[in-house]
Amino acid sequence: MPKPVLLSVDDDSDVLRAIERDLRSQYGAEYRVIGSDSPEGALDLLKQLKLRNDSVALLLADQRMPRMDGVEFLQQAMGIFPTAKRALLTAYADTNAAISAINQAAINFFFLKPWDPPAEHLYPQLDDLLDDWQASFHPTFQGIRVLGTRWSPRSYELRDFLARNRVPYEWTDVEATANDPETKRLLEALGPEAANLPVVLFPDGTKLLEGAPADVAQKVGLRTRAQTDFYDLAIVGGGPAGLAAAVYGASEGLHTVMIEREAPGGQAGMSSRIENYLGFPTGLSGGDLARRAVVQAQRFGVEILSQEVVGVRTEGPYRIVKMADGNEISCHALMIATGVQWRRLEAPGVDRLQGAGIYYGGGATEAIACKGEIVYVVGGANSAGQAAMNFAKYADRVIILVRGESLASTMSQYLIDQIKETPNIQLWTHASVVEAHGDTHLEEISVLCSDTGKTERVPTSAMFIFIGALPRTDWLADVVERDDRGFLLTGPDLIRDGRRPEGWTLDRDPFLLETNVPGIFSVGDVRHGSIKRVASGVGEGSVAVQFIHQYLSKV
Ligand SMILES: Cc1cc2nc3c(=O)[nH]c(=O)nc-3n(C[C@H](O)[C@H](O)[C@H](O)COP(=O)(O)OP(=O)(O)OC[C@H]3O[C@@H](n4cnc5c(N)ncnc54)[C@H](O)[C@@H]3O)c2cc1C
Repeated sequence: MPKPVLLSVDDDSDVLRAIERDLRSQYGAEYRVIGSDSPEGALDLLKQLKLRNDSVALLLADQRMPRMDGVEFLQQAMGIFPTAKRALLTAYADTNAAISAINQAAINFFFLKPWDPPAEHLYPQLDDLLDDWQASFHPTFQGIRVLGTRWSPRSYELRDFLARNRVPYEWTDVEATANDPETKRLLEALGPEAANLPVVLFPDGTKLLEGAPADVAQKVGLRTRAQTDFYDLAIVGGGPAGLAAAVYGASEGLHTVMIEREAPGGQAGMSSRIENYLGFPTGLSGGDLARRAVVQAQRFGVEILSQEVVGVRTEGPYRIVKMADGNEISCHALMIATGVQWRRLEAPGVDRLQGAGIYYGGGATEAIACKGEIVYVVGGANSAGQAAMNFAKYADRVIILVRGESLASTMSQYLIDQIKETPNIQLWTHASVVEAHGDTHLEEISVLCSDTGKTERVPTSAMFIFIGALPRTDWLADVVERDDRGFLLTGPDLIRDGRRPEGWTLDRDPFLLETNVPGIFSVGDVRHGSIKRVASGVGEGSVAVQFIHQYLSKV
């Protein structure tokens, strides 16, 4: 933690040097001593310290300065750091002015110039002031701070990104805390820049206006550029399947890179509790599983890139992927493990309010914000059930909307049982959302009840959608064969009427998890016919590495 600051201000450079020297020799071990030769400069400096979340213990200003006297400076400085102790340096002739300033401007002490010897005329009084300051001092948060508003989709996207990448941060909703004096001080320190939300403040004093995940990724050290331009194995997608392939590939000596556009963990990372993964009898959260897998992969030397892959091509034995920033990586073997993404709910208002009360998937960052509210969960699969259980811990009521007449055909029995035993979860069957309403954020939804034919309009500020998922594989369209829904075909699915896929040149059939392009493999949810489970993804990712070895032995 950075040391709290003692700031002295004096336009006379000799006096400033002397006071800095005396402060540093007595307090330098515990405090950072900073000097400024102008009150205006000192106020700017204080604003910067505020944005870095530094603490200021003492403000010591000379009374007689041109343009702004010491009392005025201390009054303004108090608006930025109200708990800092304030002291004036005065000449003998100023003592009356100083005494009245003490009364009027809540200044804690005044020192007479010269203060020699400091052991008699400076330190005892300062010791008192600093002891007093220490008694009520609470260390400030020393990490990334994000300022935004709850209903802003950009703020939501950024917080979700930070949370899923497990980057610690402190969140300030500037609307909800508009009357909080500390929020006001922070916004004042930002000045006109405060209009560019979300603002991200870093502990080194730098900031990002309208912070986007990619910029923050770079700043917090998530790697966005590959270390080299060639790998034995490149994996696109860092869900369970990609992570398993990375661990097995690297542990078996392959120089491996894994490219993930959001956060390692994939869909599983959104799961609040996975209860059916072997070896974890009491379940584990998807976030935990992802964190452990990332550590394991990194221990084996896997390079993890925070990037989106947007294209692929082949050049002889090389498979080349292109990333959103235009850079390319080539490899001998390529693994596509891009999973699936949520299907959109087609209803008026839904797209407009996405991120402002309407969310696809678990919305881990939103669960706590739903405290005391009525939350709607749309969908009847396990993912919806898990999310409902998670929201029920915070929300006043959780209502699950399903089109069918029960959850029996879509959700595992253990979850149905848990839901039945949770008093603040309700099931609304034969129901589908037909419109979302609200200006700046979700306020109501219209629900069509298919059994009565009536549409009900109900108030809510949070709706989470879990209505199935589809792969996003357009970027592979001209290279890799896909089924009519975009899932990738592999192994036996490519053999039609006993014939190998068009353009296939090798004198063997495609391996079990290999696509129609030799050396391009596909595993997990994105693969046609895959079982959409964590364990299956992990299994496929691990098994595919064996085929990759066989492929590489003949490249
Ligand atoms: C809320 C929820 C709860 C679930 N609960 C369970 C459970 O309890 N038990 C169970 O067995 N299964 C559960 N599942 C299903 C399970 O999570 C999935 O089957 C599993 O995550 C699939 O793994 P995957 O690696 O194939 O794909 P995903 O997990 O979908 O991961 C794919 C990754 O690829 C990335 N990606 C996509 N395109 C690109 C690109 N172009 N460039 C770079 N990266 C890209 C994505 O960002 C994503 O991180 C749950 C799913 C959800 C959503």
